[in-house]
Amino acid sequence: MTLALTDNTLLRHKAYINGTWVEASDKDTLPVTNPANGGVIAQVARCGTQETRAAIAAAETALPLWRAKPARERAVLLRNLYQLMMEHQEDLAQILTAEQGKPLAEARGEIAYGASYFEWFGEEAKRVYGDTIPAATKDKRIVVIKQGVGVVACITPWNFPNAMLSRKMAAALAAGCTLVCKPASETPLSAFAIAELADRVGIPAGVINILAGKTAEIGEELTSNPSVRKLTFTGSTVVGKELMAACASTVKKTSMELGGNAPFIVFDDADLDAAVAGAIASKYRNAGQTCVCANRFLIQESIHDAFAEKLAQAITQFRIGDGSQDGVNFGPLINQRAVTDVNNFISDAVNKGAQAITAGKNPDPDGNFVLPTILTHVTEEMEVFRKEIFGPVAPLIKFSTEEQALRMANDTEYGLAAYFYSRDIGRIWRISEGLEYGMIGINEGIISSEAAPFGGVKESGNGREGSKYGLDDYTEIKYLCLGGIDK
Ligand code: NAP
Repeated sequence: MTLALTDNTLLRHKAYINGTWVEASDKDTLPVTNPANGGVIAQVARCGTQETRAAIAAAETALPLWRAKPARERAVLLRNLYQLMMEHQEDLAQILTAEQGKPLAEARGEIAYGASYFEWFGEEAKRVYGDTIPAATKDKRIVVIKQGVGVVACITPWNFPNAMLSRKMAAALAAGCTLVCKPASETPLSAFAIAELADRVGIPAGVINILAGKTAEIGEELTSNPSVRKLTFTGSTVVGKELMAACASTVKKTSMELGGNAPFIVFDDADLDAAVAGAIASKYRNAGQTCVCANRFLIQESIHDAFAEKLAQAITQFRIGDGSQDGVNFGPLINQRAVTDVNNFISDAVNKGAQAITAGKNPDPDGNFVLPTILTHVTEEMEVFRKEIFGPVAPLIKFSTEEQALRMANDTEYGLAAYFYSRDIGRIWRISEGLEYGMIGINEGIISSEAAPFGGVKESGNGREGSKYGLDDYTEIKYLCLGGIDK
């Protein structure tokens, strides 16, 4: 299948190493398919250990010059990259929708969101301040400076192929680090397109390296090679734990953006229409394939039926189909495995007594579609209560008291995002402080912003991306002790 792009050179299919587009040494390739219809979009270079080593060596060689550049110069390059991404927003969105499946309007939004990190961190690069500390003795002075950690490895998932990579790249580049990036095998094209634009703005060869392919080989090299000083990963908790363990042998810094099991609590004093609108945005965006998407809806019993009725009505409004078509606002899942997993969650719940409400019909049997679904009569024994669904399924669970809602909300090993709807100011504080999560949406279903710290607690990971805190993950603190001050 061909993509109708204004600028066809954005559709790159080789690896970007040391400023050059290269094939895998054994010429092996990997197909990238369109989840809406199964069509092959491109065959990309399937790289392994050898290419990963070359990429790490290039990043190491490029490091001294990049690190020595004044922050202001790095900021100009990042700002130019932001602008170029926005100029090519439409083409980048077309590539994203073709390989990932989300509706074009969402893909355009993701490009703007991803690009915003380059603008944001270009500015933040100028504010990597140090410190002076009063010394304990009069012949000494204590100074603290911050420096980039060095070569950074980035591994990213398929659900936001542009934004998940952009927010790592932007912060690392701003801090003076160089990069080796491995996007998900399903969605490498959006990553290669960023590399193409970075090349055009003049980011020097070797500063950014991007390759896809043999997952285990690339992962092993990135986590064991001593030249890599940090691994930043976004993906599932199970893979995150494996990578953290692998990084232990060379004591690399890590940042982990992992899975979630977000509660979405609606109290009886909530604005019900606002809660339904928030639920639709949080649950069904990207067909439920977002790490922060509402996974369990805890609804106070007196308003449960009214909420369920309004939500059931709202899901009939989706236009389900190929995300590249006009008006479609609900796309396919990433692959058939995801379809099977989500259908298994629905079957498990129904077998244990839940009732399923669905809307619409499957537009293409060759695509990976699961219809928008609501489950009622859900209990804590069902898998949908415990596991990350990663699909368009909204399980509704009744609660009676605030204490019960908080207990159920925190009854999980995850701690990424949580949401609740209430107009009572006392309750808003109590619940905000009681929820064991890194991010809380209060009367709000969409929380992502480059200006805010994104990240989780418990088994949802460590570190923060975006905001004024985001650079900390890519810098080391160095303490300078000046002696001999006294004459
Ligand atoms: P995944 O299976 O963990 O994969 C994520 C990335 O890790 C992919 O690039 C994958 O490569 C790579 N990978 C897997 N095994 C590896 C290994 N042994 N060595 C090196 N790399 C390895 O997750 P996913 O299914 O793509 O994404 C969904 C998950 O990501 C969900 O759990 C979601 O909650 C989470 N997520 C979290 C955030 C956040 O900010 N907290 C944001 C988005 C998504 P291949 O594609 O080649 O297998």
